[in-house]
Amino acid sequence: MENVDSGWEKKEWVCEGTYWLDPTSPSYEKGCGWKGLGSECRHGDYCDSFVEMVCPSCEFRIVDVEFPLVGSGTVTYTWGKYGSK
Ligand SMILES: [Zn+2]
Repeated sequence: MENVDSGWEKKEWVCEGTYWLDPTSPSYEKGCGWKGLGSECRHGDYCDSFVEMVCPSCEFRIVDVEFPLVGSGTVTYTWGKYGSK
């Protein structure tokens, strides 16, 4: 799990597959091979405490980023629940 301070936007990510599963698992799916910076990823689903960042080309889930995302440049979305905790 990445967070606002972990520098995930400047890290390079690869759309290689279901990262939380072992590649030998039957539910493992392969990604499209896209490679790029976290800041180029698109927002996927929002969960209670994090957002899924997905591949801009095939929308495969690449990394989860913990809230808040505020002040992180390209990601300006503020999760509604944050601040009311
Ligand atoms: Zn992809």
